[in-house]
Amino acid sequence: MSSGTAGRSTAFAPFDLPGLPERSGVPPKPIRRMVFVLGDQLDRRSAAFDDFDPATDAIFMAEVMAESTHVPSSKIRSALFFSSMRHFAQAAADDGLRVHYTRLDDPDALGTLAEELERAHAALAPTEVAMVSPGEWRLHEQFAQHPARPRLLEDRHFLCSRAQFDRHVAGRKQLRMEYFYREMRTLHGILMDGGKPVGGKWNFDAENRKAFPASGPQPVPPRHGCPPDAITLEVLTMVECRLSAHPGSLDAFDWPVTRAHALYALGDFVAHRLPRFGDHQDAMWTGEPWLYHAHIASSMNLKLLDPREVIAAAEHAWREGHAPLPAVEGFIRQILGWREFVHGVYWHSMPAYLQGNALEATEPLPGFYWTGSTEMACLSQAIGQTLAHGYAHHIQRLMVTGLYALLLGVDPRAVHAWYLSVYVDAVEWVELPNTLGMALYADGGLMASKPYAATGKYIDRMSNYCKGCRFDPAASVGDDACPFTTLYWSFLLRHQSALAKNPRMSLQLKNLSRLDSDMRARIEARAESIRSGGGTPPQSTMKDLLS
Ligand SMILES: Cc1cc2nc3c(=O)[nH]c(=O)nc-3n(C[C@H](O)[C@H](O)[C@H](O)COP(=O)(O)OP(=O)(O)OC[C@H]3O[C@@H](n4cnc5c(N)ncnc54)[C@H](O)[C@@H]3O)c2cc1C
Ligand code: SF4
Repeated sequence: MSSGTAGRSTAFAPFDLPGLPERSGVPPKPIRRMVFVLGDQLDRRSAAFDDFDPATDAIFMAEVMAESTHVPSSKIRSALFFSSMRHFAQAAADDGLRVHYTRLDDPDALGTLAEELERAHAALAPTEVAMVSPGEWRLHEQFAQHPARPRLLEDRHFLCSRAQFDRHVAGRKQLRMEYFYREMRTLHGILMDGGKPVGGKWNFDAENRKAFPASGPQPVPPRHGCPPDAITLEVLTMVECRLSAHPGSLDAFDWPVTRAHALYALGDFVAHRLPRFGDHQDAMWTGEPWLYHAHIASSMNLKLLDPREVIAAAEHAWREGHAPLPAVEGFIRQILGWREFVHGVYWHSMPAYLQGNALEATEPLPGFYWTGSTEMACLSQAIGQTLAHGYAHHIQRLMVTGLYALLLGVDPRAVHAWYLSVYVDAVEWVELPNTLGMALYADGGLMASKPYAATGKYIDRMSNYCKGCRFDPAASVGDDACPFTTLYWSFLLRHQSALAKNPRMSLQLKNLSRLDSDMRARIEARAESIRSGGGTPPQSTMKDLLS
């Protein structure tokens, strides 16, 4: 491998692709097409590589500080992106493709993608620049107006194109994932028998989503991670040094960083966890961060895996009798349904979506979201594993960290910044609708038909967290009252007139009407004390932590 990169002092340099000509010493060769590849576009089957000619074309990639700081990206998330990018670039170079690469720690690294593209365009003087259309609105706008005039190509990763989703929306008063999902099943012939869903119904939720018995999960099949190789180790060292104040830890890094790793992770899930996926999809358990989930969202979002192959692997497992239909249908609905649906919602609704704050929430994000240091056992578990692994499963995100932020009334943009920072799979097109829409109801009901508001009793039912907590999930007032339960009633009191218009809230509001005025006053007093930080660590912000 060429090592013409002047000025890199590291003795241990497994990854050493040429930078741009003026600093690498590699003589400039005329380039027809420069393919600019972003960190979440790691797919050589993408439209940017159609007709790629190794004799005349080149790849350009850049690690930039701005993408780790526009929200304070956790160390593990940044490391995953950088390591996956380096592996992608190295594999392309090993296959004989010409690759120019800027590393975060290059002495002349510029810091933003736009600047790096401008410099690469000037240095390599290609006839044209091509890239897959960025998945994030902010970057799409930057590159649509960039002086290098990149040709923005359709992202073929998704089964539903942006235009097709717009057609789905046209003429509908209300968007509901379930109807979209049925259309997608029919259109793509997935889990279909002629024109009918296999098993006679579209949805097997009634058979899924059980809690664990009191004895807990049966021994959970061990998750086979992907231990860091030399390239990843170098990235971990760089991230620890350059992003030392960023949240989270790198000690347990074992995420897939190559397509081969990602396929291995998919196979591991299908073989060992898919058969139990549906049963305990919503259950949580102390000290069990992984359970029966797939842990492949980061691989799909970086485009190391194609959703079609993930869906096909799950359907095949059912057809071969390896996994039951409720588990397989439940899993496929997450990808063919939810994942495609949120992608459509994002592109259909941006940029206005980002401003959504239907419940006028203004509280700051509690400081313990960045440390996990709280007496609330459920939050301590969910945040603790998030900072250690960059991972929590859907119900931990929705009904623990998301629910607390909803009930407390935290400013949606602060919550959005947190989710985008801390998860290895966090990219805005999927994170934002889940956070603003599903968890916080900040879009006024586009994603969810009602706010996912619940007391601590929901968490008690679906986990064993409350057994190890000093609070009582059934109590709404008093020193031991569960903060979720207190804040739930306070939330309903605060929003009752707006929520009264929603028939799906009628039972909850009927229960609220049974509270007498004395109880309401006691709830409000305790809610106020929670909001002002009573009993929890100071409400520091990430800005404080980074300063
Ligand atoms: C507040 C909040 C923020 C979220 N942020 C992200 C995010 O940044 N990135 C992300 O990929 N997912 C996000 N999700 C969705 C979901 O929680 C994760 O996709 C899932 O937990 C990833 O773990 P897994 O791969 O083990 O998923 P599994 O539970 O095994 O599910 C399989 C796959 O289905 C897809 N999926 C499941 N639920 C959803 C959903 N609601 N929306 C879109 N795709 C879904 C994912 O690709 C996932 O890998 C968020 C959910 C909430 C409530
Ligand atoms: S009692 Fe409340 S705060 Fe404690 S774990 Fe249960 S839900 Fe969470």
